[in-house]
Amino acid sequence: MPGQTNRRARKLTRADAAALYARLAEARPDPRTELDYVNPFTLVVAVALSAQATDKGVNRATGPLFKIADTPQKMIALGEAGLADHIKTIGLWRNKAKNVIALSQQLVDLHGGEVPHDRAALEALPGVGRKTANVVLAEAFGEATIAVDTHVFRVANRTGLASGKTPDAVEAQLMKITPPDYLHGAHHWLILHGRYVCVARTPKCLVCPVREICTFPQKTGAQPRAAARASAKKRAPSGAKAKKR
Ligand code: SF4
Repeated sequence: MPGQTNRRARKLTRADAAALYARLAEARPDPRTELDYVNPFTLVVAVALSAQATDKGVNRATGPLFKIADTPQKMIALGEAGLADHIKTIGLWRNKAKNVIALSQQLVDLHGGEVPHDRAALEALPGVGRKTANVVLAEAFGEATIAVDTHVFRVANRTGLASGKTPDAVEAQLMKITPPDYLHGAHHWLILHGRYVCVARTPKCLVCPVREICTFPQKTGAQPRAAARASAKKRAPSGAKAKKR
C-alpha cells in the first residue's frame, strides 16, 4: 500500500478508550455472538468448531446437529463418525470431531454432564483453550472476560487500545483499559468491528465510527506524517501571499 509504514498505533488514554467503546456501543447497542447455541454445552461445541472457520459456516452445520445432539451424552451416542458427517463442511473437521467427542466424555466423567463454571476445568477440556474458555465464561456464566481472537487482536493493536504481540498480552491490556461498564460487551464490539469495519486487508476507515479516536498510522485516507509535513510546507507560501493581499 503506498505510504504504508510499520509504525505502531499510539496507545490510547483511558478517556479515549472509553470514548471508543461508547461509539462502538452506539453503533451496536445489543452486541451478541453470531454463533448459534441452545445451552452451555452447545456453546462450547460451537466455539470449539469455530476455530479457523466462519460463524455462518459453523451455524449451517450445527443447526441440524444440535437438534439431535444437544447434550454430552447424546453427542457420545452419535459417535465420532456420526458427528463427522455433520461437520465435514468445517475446516479441520477430523480433529474437531475427535475433540468434541473427547470433551463430551470428559464432561460426563468429571462434571456430571454439565459445563463447569471454572476456567481451569474448561481449559482442561480437549480442544478448549483460553479463548474458548473466555467466551464460555462470558456468554454462559456472565463473567467479565475478553476473548481475544484474530479480529479482537487486530482491532486492539490497530486502534491503540492495546499493543501486544500475543493474544494473552492483548487480553491483559484490554482488561486494564476497558471501563467496567463496557467489559461485558467488549469482546463482541471488538470482534464485530473487526469482522465488518476494521477488516484485515483494507479497513473501512472512511466509514468507521471510531475514526477520530483510532491512532492507526495507516488509516485509509490518513496522510503519512512526512507527506502531511511536505504538503503543509507547500501550502505555506501561498497562504502567506494571500494574507498580504
Ligand atoms: S479508523 Fe480504520 S484502522 Fe482505525 S478502527 Fe477504524 S477501520 Fe480500523
